[in-house]
Amino acid sequence: MPIKHRVQRKSLKTSHTVSSPLVTPQAHQSGVLQKLLQEDPTYDYDLIVIGGGSGGLSCAQEAAALGRRVMVLDLVVPSPQGTSWGVAGTCVNVGCVPKKLMHQAALLGQALTDSRKFGWECSQQVKHNWETMTEAIQKHVGSLNRSYQRALREKAVAYVNSYGEFVEHHKIKATNGKGQETYYTAAKFVIATGERPRYLGIQGDKEYCITSDDFFSLPYCPGATLVVGASSVALECAGFLAGLGLEVTVMVSSQLLRGFDQEMAEKVASSMQQLGVRFLRKFVPVEVQQLEKGSPGKLKVVAKSTEGTEIIEGLYNTVLLAIGRDSCTKKIGLEKIGVKVNEKTGKIPVNDVEQSSVPYVYAVGDVVEGQPELTPVAVQAGRLLARRLFGGRLEKCDYINAPTVVFTPLEYGCCGYAEEKAVEVYRKENLEVRRCDCGMFRPSLLIHGSGDRISRPWTEGRRDHPRICSRHEMWAHEAAAGRHHWDPPHVCTGVHHPGDHEVIGAGHHAEGLLRLSRCCRFPCPAPVSVKTACSRVSPGTASGQGGGTAAVPSTRLADGEGQPRCVLDVLARSRQVSQD
Ligand code: FAD
Ligand code: NAP
Repeated sequence: MPIKHRVQRKSLKTSHTVSSPLVTPQAHQSGVLQKLLQEDPTYDYDLIVIGGGSGGLSCAQEAAALGRRVMVLDLVVPSPQGTSWGVAGTCVNVGCVPKKLMHQAALLGQALTDSRKFGWECSQQVKHNWETMTEAIQKHVGSLNRSYQRALREKAVAYVNSYGEFVEHHKIKATNGKGQETYYTAAKFVIATGERPRYLGIQGDKEYCITSDDFFSLPYCPGATLVVGASSVALECAGFLAGLGLEVTVMVSSQLLRGFDQEMAEKVASSMQQLGVRFLRKFVPVEVQQLEKGSPGKLKVVAKSTEGTEIIEGLYNTVLLAIGRDSCTKKIGLEKIGVKVNEKTGKIPVNDVEQSSVPYVYAVGDVVEGQPELTPVAVQAGRLLARRLFGGRLEKCDYINAPTVVFTPLEYGCCGYAEEKAVEVYRKENLEVRRCDCGMFRPSLLIHGSGDRISRPWTEGRRDHPRICSRHEMWAHEAAAGRHHWDPPHVCTGVHHPGDHEVIGAGHHAEGLLRLSRCCRFPCPAPVSVKTACSRVSPGTASGQGGGTAAVPSTRLADGEGQPRCVLDVLARSRQVSQD
C-alpha cells in the first residue's frame, strides 16, 4: 500500500507557474505538456527513488515540490566493522560534513599554535581530545539527519527506511532492518544508491582495517595510523590526523591524486611532509595481522613493492583503507528488469538526461558512469532530473568543469583540466601556462619571517586557438554543476578567473579565489583550467563578502539543531541561476 500523503497534488497550472517559465504553446510543441498530463493511477507512486543521499533526496524533494507522489527508500548496510548511520547518505554522515569538521579541528590546532606569535599567551599545554571531537561531530550529523527527515515530512515525501530491490518491471521489494518485506510500484524510478568503500581483498583487511565509513565516528583516538591510498579521501584523512598530532604514514601504490594536476599534488604532499606525514611510495599491503587487541590495538602490515620484490613491514595502531569505492548496484535487481551496468566498474551508463537502458529508470550521483563523484553534482543532477520529468523544464545537468576542493592541510581547489590533461587535449604548443605566486597575509609570515608565497598556476588556451572553452561556456558549466560551498572562509577553490563579470553563485571558495585572482591582475582571456593551493587565509580577508554565507563549523556545532545556513544560501543561489 502506498504511504498516505498529507498534501493534495498541485494543479498543473500551479506547478507549471512555480517551476517553469515555459509558455503553454511551447510546452505543447515540445511534447512537455503531454508528458505533464500523463498520470498513471495504476502505480502506487509517480516516482520511487532508491537511495536517500545527496542525489536521491534532491530529486525526491524536487519531484514532491512539483506535486508528485514520491517515495524514497534508504537503508545503510552496516560496514564490516558494524558502523551504520542515518538518512542523507555519504556526504552528511561519512563524507563531506564530518570530514570538513575534522579538517577544521586540525586547522584550529594549528591556529592555536600560531596564536602565540600573535601575542596569545596560553598558560597550559594544548592537547586534543579525540572523543570530544567525534562526539560533537556525531551530534551535529545527528541534527542534520533529523532536519533531513523533517524536510522530507514537510515536503510529503514518503521516507521508508528499507533496502530497495527490483523484482519485476515497475515493482520493487523493500526490506526493512527486521527483514520485513513490502512491495511498491511506481511509474518511474531513480537509482541513487551511491558507493561504499572498497577493501583490499587481502588477509586481515575486513577484520582489522577501518574505512571512511568507520573513521568519523571512531570512539577512540586511532593512534599511529597507516592510510592506504593516495587520493582525496586518503590525503584528506592523513592531513587532519597529522594536524591533530598523530603519527601518520600514507602508502601510495602509484601516484598522488590521480587525475588531478600533478604539480599541485606534489605541493600538497610536500606540505603534508612538513607536517610530519611519511609517504611510502610504490608499495601495496599484502597482509594485515593483529598483534594486540585494544582501542586502538596493534597491527602489523606487510607490504610489497609495486616495482620490484622488496617486502616491508610496519607496526601501526590503525589501518585506514581509502583505496576507492564500489558502486551499490549489484544487489538491487537491475538484471531482473534489464538495466545495463558496466560489469567492470558497477556503474550505470546513462544518456544526457540520466536515463538508463530501461526508459523509466534513471540514475543520479555516484552510481552514474563517467561523471564526477561530488555532492553538488549529485544534488544538481537530481534536482534537474525531477524538473525535467515532472516540471516541464528542459535543462540538463552539465557535468563539465565542476569545481572541487581537496581538503588537505594545504587546500587545493581546481576547476577545468589538470595541466597534463590540457596538454593532452590542446597540445603543449597551444597552451600557455601562467604561474602566479601571490603573497598572502598569513600568520606563518610572522612565524617564519619570510614571504610565504602561494603558487597558483593557470593553464590557459592560446587566444588564437579555436578549440578552447570560452569564458562564457565555462561559466555556464559552473552554474549547471551547482555548488557546495558551506565551508569556512579560509578556503578557496579554483572556480573562476579575474574579470569584469561577477561570480555566479559564489560562495566563500569562489570569493576567495576571485580575490586571489584579482590580486594577481592577470589578463586572462580564456582559461581552460584554474588551480589554486591555499593554506590559511586570514578569515577577515574572505568573509563577509560572500552574500551571507559566513557560518563556520564551530558555530554550527554549538547550534546543535541548527541547519547549516550556508547550504541553503548556496542552493538558493544555484536555483536562481538555473531559473534565469
Ligand atoms: P550517497 O550519498 O552515497 O547516498 C546513497 C544512499 O543510498 C546511502 O544512504 C545508501 O545507504 C543508500 N542505499 C544504497 N543502496 C540502497 C538500496 N538498495 N536501498 C535503499 N538504500 C540504499 N564530495 C564533495 O563534493 N565534497 C567533499 O568534500 C566530499 N568529501 C567526501 C569525503 C569522503 C570521505 C567521501 C567518502 C566522499 C566525499 N565526497 C565529497 C563525495 C560525496 O560524498 C558523494 O559524491 C555523494 O555523497 C554522492 O551522493 P549519492 O546520492 O550518489 O550517494
Ligand atoms: P579514488 O579517487 O578512487 O582513489 C583511490 C586511491 O586508492 C588511489 O590513490 C589509488 O591509487 C589507490 N588504490 C587503489 N587500489 C589500491 C590498492 N590495492 N592498494 C593501494 N592503493 C590503492 O577514491 P577515494 O579517494 O576513496 O575517493 C572516492 C571519490 O570520492 C572520488 O571520486 C572523489 O570525487 C570523492 N571525494 C571527493 C572529495 C572532495 O571533493 N574533497 C573528498 C573525498 C572523496 P592509484 O591511483 O594508483 O590507482
